[in-house]
Order: sequence, then C-alpha cells, then structure tokens
Amino acid sequence: MKETAAGFTTTSNTKAFDRSHRKTINFNMSKYNAAVPQGKLQFAELHLARERAKNIKWKAIETLDQQLESFEAAITKRGAKVIWAEDAAQALDAIKKICEEKNCKTLVKSKSMVTEEIHLNHFLEKQGIESVETDLGEYIQQLAGETPYHIVTPAMHKSKEDIALLFSEKLGTDPSLNPEQLTLVARDTLRAKYRQAEVGVTGANFIIADIGAVAVTENEGNGRLSCSMPKTHIVVTGIEKVIPSMHDLALFWPLLATYGTGQRITSYNTIIAGPRQEGETDGPEEMYVILLDNGRTNILANEKQRESLYCIRCGACLNACPVYKNIGGHTYASTYSGPIGAVITPNLQDLGEWKHLSHASSLCGNCTEVCAVKINLHELLLENRHEAAEEGLAPFGEKMAWKIWKIAMLRRKLINIANGSMKARVINTIGKAWTQHRGKLDFPKKSFNQQWKEKSGNK
Ligand code: SF4
Repeated sequence: MKETAAGFTTTSNTKAFDRSHRKTINFNMSKYNAAVPQGKLQFAELHLARERAKNIKWKAIETLDQQLESFEAAITKRGAKVIWAEDAAQALDAIKKICEEKNCKTLVKSKSMVTEEIHLNHFLEKQGIESVETDLGEYIQQLAGETPYHIVTPAMHKSKEDIALLFSEKLGTDPSLNPEQLTLVARDTLRAKYRQAEVGVTGANFIIADIGAVAVTENEGNGRLSCSMPKTHIVVTGIEKVIPSMHDLALFWPLLATYGTGQRITSYNTIIAGPRQEGETDGPEEMYVILLDNGRTNILANEKQRESLYCIRCGACLNACPVYKNIGGHTYASTYSGPIGAVITPNLQDLGEWKHLSHASSLCGNCTEVCAVKINLHELLLENRHEAAEEGLAPFGEKMAWKIWKIAMLRRKLINIANGSMKARVINTIGKAWTQHRGKLDFPKKSFNQQWKEKSGNK
C-alpha cells in the first residue's frame, strides 16, 4: 500500500472513533442542515435552477479556451495583467516576481482554496514575506498551524472553546473570551495588517468571460479589503471557474450562497474588472490575474471526468457525505476533501497515489443528490476506480483477491465446499478485518443451493 493510502487508513481508523471530533462536527453541521432548507425556499423551481446552472457550466467548460480568451481580452483592456500558469511552480514564480517588484514584506490574503493548492503561504514564508490569512476561519487555522478542514468552513472542527484557548496561547488573550470578543481581537489584528500590506491576494468564485471580471463572494468583507487596500491585487484562480456572462451571476450567486451556508445571498459579493481606473478614488494601482491549470486540462481531456470541472465549491457534498462526517477533512490529506476532493484529487495529481480516496465512499449517492450543479459525483468515483483498475494500478494482493473471488463466484460448487461454520471462522478470524469494528458474522448452516432446493420442494 502506498504511503498516502496507508496514512489515510490509519488516520481514518482513529478519527472515526474520536467522539469529541464527532460531537463538534455534528453540532456545526446541524446548524448548516437547519439553514439550507430555508435558503432553498427562495427558488421557485430548485430542480430547474440546478439543471440550468449545470448547463451553463457545461457550455463554459466545453468552450473553455474561447471563454478564457474573451475574459483576458476584456480585463486587459481595463489595465489588468493576465498570467497563464501551467502548474503551481509557474504560479508561485509569477507571485514571487510581483512581490519582489513591489518590495513586499506583508501580504494579506482572503480565503482561496487555489492558493492552498499551490501552498502559497509556505512558499512566501520561505521568501521572507509575511502572508496573513484574513478570513476568520482561515486565520484561526493559520494560528493553529493547520490547513483548512473544509472548503467553505475552514475551522469547522473547532468549538468556540478550542478557539478561545488557541487565541489565548497564540495571542495572549483571556481564555474565557466569547465568540464576539474573539472576532473583535481578530478584527483589530487584521485591520493593522491591511494597512501594512503591499500586496493583497484573493481567489475568484467566478471568472466572468463577457465583461472580463472576477467575482468574489464572502461573508466578512475581508476579501473586499484584501483586493482594494493594498496597492497591488493578485487574483489566483483555477481556469475552470469561468462562467460565460455576468447575467449568469443572478443564478450562481444565490445557488452558491444557499448550498454553501443556507443563506439567500452571501453578505459581500464583489465584481472586480481591473485596477483603479482614471478618476476613481479607490482600488489597487495594479491588478494581476493568474489563471492556473495545474492538472485541470487533464480532467478536461477526459470526457467522463470533465463534469467535475463544473464544481462551484459550495461544500454541500462534504456536509452530506457519511464518510466525511466520520473521518473529517484533514484525514484526506489533500487540498480538496469530501466527495469532490475524492473525485478530482486523483485526476489533478496522480491516480496511483490518490486512488484510495475514490474508495472512501459508501456510494450512497447522497453527494450527487445534494450537488448544487448536479455533478454525478458517485459515478465519477466509480469511474476513478474503473480507470485505476484499467491502468493496472491495484496492488498485487487486491488483484489476487479479485481473481480468487471470480473463480469462486463462477463455480458454485467451490463456494459450497465450506459449510456455514467454516465460512464464519474464516471471515471472523483472518486478519480481523471484519470483526475489528463490527459484530461477528454468523453464516447459515445450509448453503443457498440446499435452501433453494428445500424451499422449491426439489429435495
Ligand atoms: S461537487 Fe457539487 S456539492 Fe460538491 S462542492 Fe462542488 S458544487 Fe458543491
């Protein structure tokens, strides 16, 4: 078993039995579960809205090259500079050059999973640049030295007591502070950083092709401050975030808000179409947009997997997944966790290394059921498994097990050689794989054939 897969199995085994983790997750997800049905009420035809969103994303992804070129042409006209990055190294190199040019010592950053994907904070730290997360959840995670636990709610696994303790350890605050007081502490610290920062980095929830702009959605106003207070604004975004027209936001904004947090609309929705224009009083002097591929064109080239590029990162599939709820986000050890992470990580990175994530599913289909843009997630998980098997990536033991299983299944007599108690002994004792977390199996004394013959009177 590969190291990543072995690590996943070990951590899953521990996390699934961690009651305190389960309690916090259940509590935080119960708030989400209560809010989402309320948000959904705003749609007269929810099913049609999701279908329409899927069709728009289908169109955008099928014409991705044209959409991105249209975006580049329009935003360039308004003074922004577009940089195409094939991989993380090219994106980081571009950011480094900009930071050097601006003599950047402090950089403020709003929540962005793409910058997690390229490990931007770690990279900047090595360059001697302080990179400060300004989203409260991300800020908490940065203080704790952890990666985001969830794509929408980075600190979902922490209780308010955990956070009060963390602030007291790292910032010297009173450990009995309540959530409002803790938020004010973070706010004071971060406001100073906005004034200090030479560069602000944001992601993009959507790249708008027709008008040449990016749309950023957030609940705290930190994204807006990150892109407008520093003199230089860098957007780092995956190329799949494109939507053809600004009119499409009328559908995508409420859809993302409802499926992400249960809101009707997120508190701050900003459209940025370039740096400060002549005659304008605020905004950055310069704006760069880094369009990152980093494996996305591999997914685009695969007709079956292409659908996964429709994802708007609402996080609904994570909240609905029984596996995610038990093992938690960090167990995946990948930037994107939950069902969508299990689908795209093996394709963005390496199928051999990450295929085990596609097996971390009960295939109940709940992820597909709740997906804001109706991606057939559970079928894509099966497709990953299929592709891994086709490429011969299964370990030797697994291949042998399936061979033996096939021989036995095709020859009823072989299965009937062992009686019920022998079968029970084998399953209940060998490797304890079954009984480690489950009750013992008890097989019927008579085989299926014997019972069938008896019941049909053909003794
Ligand atoms: S796959 Fe669907 S449900 Fe999951 S994050 Fe993406 S859009 Fe949301």
